[in-house]
Amino acid sequence: MLITVLDTDPRTVLCMELAGPSSPDTIGVTQSWTLTELPSVDAVEACAGVVLPTIAGRVDNEVGGRLLAPLLEHPANVDDPFARRDEASHTTAAAARVLPKSAGKCTACGETIDLRGSAARERVHIHTAENGVDHWNYYGPAHDWPAALCGRCQTAMTEGGFSTFLDYRFSFHPSCPRCAASQTRSAVIGMPIPREPVPPWTVPLGCIVTDPAPDWICGACGHRWAN
Ligand SMILES: [Zn+2]
Ligand SMILES: [Zn+2]
Repeated sequence: MLITVLDTDPRTVLCMELAGPSSPDTIGVTQSWTLTELPSVDAVEACAGVVLPTIAGRVDNEVGGRLLAPLLEHPANVDDPFARRDEASHTTAAAARVLPKSAGKCTACGETIDLRGSAARERVHIHTAENGVDHWNYYGPAHDWPAALCGRCQTAMTEGGFSTFLDYRFSFHPSCPRCAASQTRSAVIGMPIPREPVPPWTVPLGCIVTDPAPDWICGACGHRWAN
């Protein structure tokens, strides 16, 4: 069994893989689990009842077997059986957790960020949110939101004097024509994806929209309007 541990603070687990004969004369990865929620090593150890080595090296079979059990028992569509405890917001682990969720796109403008190679460090700017807000425990209203930003958005957010990512993201939207409130939200057609957080600057309208669909919804007065 191969376990990939990221050297974040606290340390987190990125993936677990099973190695075995993949053809009669090669050994390869036969099964793998990517833990996109990056559980901390502590959480994995507590869940599986094991202690992981602190340096790279062999994990003995008994430990491997115990780590495997929660993965095999878990339904396939739920990728992370290891419960994650709430941790401080601005750790490198919190920052690392933003990346898998961004799917390689800028959270603000949606532009693809090239994450290949070591220069990727300069191309992506991670913004973590206060108060333990993350994509997975958002119960709103949020004051901020974790984001992976492209260089252009990072510059625009800094130069625009936006103190939170949400302020910056909401600045893309028009203010309400009826009550002049800012922080209007964009309407999106479709159902929220299960287990996917709904960004607070959008409102999912569901799949069946009969009236002319609005483009914008005002959170203050409820006004809906199209462009
Ligand atoms: Zn951007
Ligand atoms: Zn309004």
